[in-house]
Amino acid sequence: MSLPQGIAYDVPVSLADNAVVPGHPAYRSVRSTYLRSGSPGLVLRPRSPAEVADALAFARRHPDVPLGIRSGGHGISGRSTNDGGIVIDVGALDTIEVLDVERRRVRIGPGATWKRVAAALDPYGWALGSGDYGGVGVGGLATAGGIGLLGRQHGLTIDHLRAVELVLADGSQVRATRDEHPDLFWAVRGAGANFGVATAFEFEVDDVPEVGWAKLTLVSADIEETLRRYGELASAAPRDTTVFLVTGQPRQGQSVVQLYAIAASPDADVVVERLRPFAEELGTLVQQEVVLTTYAAVMAEAPDVGPEGHRGHGEPVTRSALLTALTPELAADAARLLRTGQVYFFQLRAMGGAIADVPPDETAFSHRGAAFQVTAMGGDRAVLDALWDGISHHFEGTYLSFETDLRPERLTEAFPPPVLDRLRALKLRYDPHNLFRDNFNIPPATTDSDEEELAS
Ligand SMILES: Cc1cc2nc3c(=O)[nH]c(=O)nc-3n(C[C@H](O)[C@H](O)[C@H](O)COP(=O)(O)OP(=O)(O)OC[C@H]3O[C@@H](n4cnc5c(N)ncnc54)[C@H](O)[C@@H]3O)c2cc1C
Repeated sequence: MSLPQGIAYDVPVSLADNAVVPGHPAYRSVRSTYLRSGSPGLVLRPRSPAEVADALAFARRHPDVPLGIRSGGHGISGRSTNDGGIVIDVGALDTIEVLDVERRRVRIGPGATWKRVAAALDPYGWALGSGDYGGVGVGGLATAGGIGLLGRQHGLTIDHLRAVELVLADGSQVRATRDEHPDLFWAVRGAGANFGVATAFEFEVDDVPEVGWAKLTLVSADIEETLRRYGELASAAPRDTTVFLVTGQPRQGQSVVQLYAIAASPDADVVVERLRPFAEELGTLVQQEVVLTTYAAVMAEAPDVGPEGHRGHGEPVTRSALLTALTPELAADAARLLRTGQVYFFQLRAMGGAIADVPPDETAFSHRGAAFQVTAMGGDRAVLDALWDGISHHFEGTYLSFETDLRPERLTEAFPPPVLDRLRALKLRYDPHNLFRDNFNIPPATTDSDEEELAS
């Protein structure tokens, strides 16, 4: 169902000046996301938590209309836009403040980008590991996980979260920490999109001096062997080293393999030692760029989204999974997948290290044993799904931030049954009418036993 014509009359006064509807001069800049085109009926742009509450009150009055929540608009599933629905865009809540220099505490709005965060922390010699792309918004990533290039050294982004301020479905404003609303604090660190609109995050960040930042391009005549060996090297690397691999379909038997790596050491000799096996053992090195630099400089490589906004086109087609190990059998199946020519982007992100130090029940992101996160992008939904489903016996769970398949199994893969049961019980408590439903919906629990789960 779409918004009824002329719905704008119903928009709360606080939001009316800033609202965007089709035909508005700003509409083009707010309609789409990084990967997905959209045509929402109304984009509300609150400038404070109170205005977020007003926007949610409006959304509650239109329960049958799609509702997207947007921070930076880089969500791969693209659910921060829609067709004919409401989008609540909290991009204006983008303040970055240092709260406590001694304790390295910072407070960040969801609308900031990770490159701005990195730039703000840099003068203190600090960094907060995010993803590999500085253009991504804080809100979507910090409510899901954050698997980045400092991951093996410093953990997921959510592992640094100490408090989150949320506007809940009923419009109430809460602060969740280990001590205040601890259950909500647990849920937001992995399943945040289902529980409220985050309006600020407090993080404890790390001292991060210069890092070795490498971009290596290799050509491989045997992608199966390259993937297998990459798996061994990336898992065995010291935790200061996190390497991501990107490749696509082989051409004439040759695969171009790109490696993006941070060796978190200010010592050039250590950086070279860490990277050498990757440069020497995975194919023929054809290009390399290795520099000692700051995390902020790494993040700054992403271009800004200009005044024209995002340019996403059509429906993104991706699949995503987590691996506890990159086995020879998976390398063989992944090579076969790439040779079909149906996957133009294939990425392996190394995990482990500090990510695995956190107990699985500490956050709703529970896949702490994952060694790699893998993403495939293709052009045809049915074809990619069939190929990916065919190799799914290698996978153990998924990370929804790279997933676009909306079949219900994805939810249980992201949140294994005990986690999902707890999330559903919390959903019943915090969002019983399922207002936040448009991005991998966790349905509220329906039975008494689900509620009992909460109490136990
Ligand atoms: C180029 C690129 C590189 C990426 N690299 C990485 C990476 O290295 N590691 C990684 O972990 N991820 C990575 N991602 C995935 C990214 O973390 C997620 O897509 C994330 O959701 C984007 O956040 P956003 O605020 O920009 O997106 P948006 O599109 O604004 O939001 C995405 C979803 O998050 C939810 N959401 C947004 N804001 C809020 C809020 N304030 N409160 C509650 N829920 C909210 C909504 O459900 C929304 O649909 C990458 C994405 C892209 C496009």
